[in-house]
Amino acid sequence: NSEEEKKEDYLFKIVLIGDSAVGKSNLLARFARDEFYPNSKSTIGVEFQTQKININGKEVKAQIWDTAGQERFRAVTSAYYRGAVGALLVYDISRRLTFDNIDRWLNELQTHSDMNVVIILVGNKSDLKDAREVTTAEGKALAEAKGLFFIETSALDSSNVTSAFQTVVREIYNILS
Ligand code: GDP
Ligand code: MG
Repeated sequence: NSEEEKKEDYLFKIVLIGDSAVGKSNLLARFARDEFYPNSKSTIGVEFQTQKININGKEVKAQIWDTAGQERFRAVTSAYYRGAVGALLVYDISRRLTFDNIDRWLNELQTHSDMNVVIILVGNKSDLKDAREVTTAEGKALAEAKGLFFIETSALDSSNVTSAFQTVVREIYNILS
């Protein structure tokens, strides 16, 4: 029926943000192509990638934007955020500084995007158990304080990568449908 067709037309813009080298491009590569780059540079970044996601049996398209290295120069432009309905706010659990910078990214996101943008805080590189500098409890607590979803992922071993994207898309879908 026509209502179903409408829902299948959904296209959600989702942005990846967070410090350089936290694994944003690899999260997208793992999710969209099931690939991982052990020594990736910003050159693997693409502008965006469109991925179909199944939510409650409905096909939803997520247009996922990657910063392609601009974060190094604090040059993520307002065009990057424009129209975004979801965001993955990524830090590296093995580098405390990337977690400390989450506040700054959150401010930037909230300045440039819609108030209702769905945000998930993502602690990436959960495979680096011996190098962990940020506990799961700290990540959870920050997410709760800021009203964000929370998940720990590993683009290397694939854990929770699909879940991270699906959580955001499902929530946007629930809000809009
Ligand atoms: P970006 O700058 O945020 O896009 O980060 P990249 O995706 O380019 O990743 C930076 C570096 O971290 C690369 O050497 C990746 O191979 C590595 N990396 C990314 N995700 C993971 C992960 O989940 N675990 C581990 N151990 N390394 C990762
Ligand atoms: Mg990148």
